[in-house]
Amino acid sequence: MEVILADYLGFCYGVKRAIRLARDSAAEKNASTLGPIIHNPQMVARLEEEGVGSVDSLDEVPDGGTLIIRSHGVGPAVYEAANARPIKVVDATCPHVKKAQMAAHRLAEDGFDVVIIGEKKHPEVKSILEWAGGNAAVVETEEEAEALPDYLKLGIVAQTTFSGTRFQEIAARLIPKSNDIRIIRTICTATDQRQSAALALAADVDLMLVIGGKNSANTTRLAQICAEKTVVHHIETASELKDDWFHNIKKIGITAGASTPDWIIREVYQKCQM
Ligand code: SF4
Repeated sequence: MEVILADYLGFCYGVKRAIRLARDSAAEKNASTLGPIIHNPQMVARLEEEGVGSVDSLDEVPDGGTLIIRSHGVGPAVYEAANARPIKVVDATCPHVKKAQMAAHRLAEDGFDVVIIGEKKHPEVKSILEWAGGNAAVVETEEEAEALPDYLKLGIVAQTTFSGTRFQEIAARLIPKSNDIRIIRTICTATDQRQSAALALAADVDLMLVIGGKNSANTTRLAQICAEKTVVHHIETASELKDDWFHNIKKIGITAGASTPDWIIREVYQKCQM
């Protein structure tokens, strides 16, 4: 059985940076991330062992503690509330997410109504929405885009991990809605690279293993993309592999979301080769 890794897989720049910043904070008193640092339960558990916990709200961080803002970012209200408290703030917002937040903020300040193309429930999208202020909307389908009104000035930005093709398809429905449009394609290259590499590999193998948190939007998206080409199993760890998946399989492809640690990818790769 041949096992092939996708050309681009696993931790992206923003996640590596966030984990490094969180680990650097482990020595601080009561260091916690606001929400899980990434959508990967195994990595969250490992950080906890190293001394970095996770809280759901700022109120849970005691005075003198350290609050780590994760790569998905937060809205301006969280910075304001945190800065008003005697706590240390470590900002691990991915610079690409920051760019999307600032793009939405500037558009709103310039008088544009902002539409974010992305997943409504995703924490990054919520943070961009907050930076865009009151007059912003989120759409994730063509139908939702069609349902929006016409605008005098329309600014469009994207969730960084949104599919480039889907962004274009949805943006095409928004373009007729205004004569004054600014589109800022805030999709990060890590996502495009992982999606293109996964799609190319899926077309060449009998089975794809997509590794990453079941709660990870970008991993789930990789699984959907690969399913267009071949049989897919989305797993979080090597312990989920089942012998009967591999009957009559000659070539296996492996990809992993941007929040999947290297050690988990290695374990899956090694188990497939046994
Ligand atoms: S996927 Fe892109 S935007 Fe998101 S954390 Fe990684 S590098 Fe940053």
